[in-house]
Amino acid sequence: MSSSDLIEIVIASGKGGVGKSTIAASLAIILRNSGYRVVAVDADAEAPNLHLVLGINRWDRILEHREGRIGFVRDDKCIYCGYCYDSCAFGAIEEKSGRYVINPWICEGCFTCSFVCPVKAISFKYNVLAGYIKIAYSTPYKFPLVSSEIKPGRPNSGKLVTEAKNLGRTISSGKGVIIVDAAAGIGCQVIASLAGSHLALLVAEPTPASFSDLKRIHKLTKHFGIPSTLVVNKYDLNEKFVSEIIEYARKENIELLGLLPYDDSVPKSMTMGKPVIYAYPNSDITKGIMEIANRLLTIVRNWKSWRLEHIPEKIEPFIPVIIKPRSWVR
Ligand code: SF4
Ligand code: SF4
Repeated sequence: MSSSDLIEIVIASGKGGVGKSTIAASLAIILRNSGYRVVAVDADAEAPNLHLVLGINRWDRILEHREGRIGFVRDDKCIYCGYCYDSCAFGAIEEKSGRYVINPWICEGCFTCSFVCPVKAISFKYNVLAGYIKIAYSTPYKFPLVSSEIKPGRPNSGKLVTEAKNLGRTISSGKGVIIVDAAAGIGCQVIASLAGSHLALLVAEPTPASFSDLKRIHKLTKHFGIPSTLVVNKYDLNEKFVSEIIEYARKENIELLGLLPYDDSVPKSMTMGKPVIYAYPNSDITKGIMEIANRLLTIVRNWKSWRLEHIPEKIEPFIPVIIKPRSWVR
């Protein structure tokens, strides 16, 4: 990688609670200590916790994220026909004592109810406060952190994640490494995390559920044409199953970065608000993370040639999901 390049690495997993934030925080610190300009982005807008792993308890800047709209029924115009109730695919309209009310936590602002209303009794509030982007310009580990946080019930958390990532790119000035700690699963936040990134670091545990979710998230990285690497966390909980995961990775041209043991240093370090590599530098997990970081550094240093060898050959097709109004599914 030349000094003018930016490489965006997304730490992702199909399943939650597999140690993404621990790995993301540790890798950001090690890359920074190796001389790279690093920006960390917490893209888990529904449950951001990278700042807790890094021991950050104050923000330099908090930006409001406003977007979208919420419908409301005007009682002075409503004739109580119930057409809106039948048309809402999200179940956001409730009938309360003969009145129709739009639940602001559920409404997606899609306009369908207003199209079917015969007397134009539905209006909209615009630019609703949907969440926050929080910035710590200088963490104790000498790199900035951008964190996204969606408000309960607000849609489009993917858009918030995209804005947080864009801010991270601006702060990086297009140089160095961005470490993106993605949400679990394959939803819109994860899609936003992967879009435009260069490399995925997938984290799995040796369980059938985590393996199944690994395959799902890997489909997504293939859809975006992003090469993938793999870390198996808590490998010693089910060593027999690890070989099955490794065989899958080999067949799919996913580079195995390493195996991490179960280690109670991780929850203990979290209660201390310190990354495990600082709280327990001699622990088995710290040794494992250092080995993984060394392999990642080799990839970053040889980025162009490594990418050519690992970029997915076949792009996974996109299959759209159609959401049907309530009246269609009865
Ligand atoms: S139809 Fe759309 S705009 Fe109307 S209440 Fe449902 S989600 Fe909101
Ligand atoms: S469709 Fe319009 S008039 Fe009918 S219940 Fe809904 S808001 Fe009221």
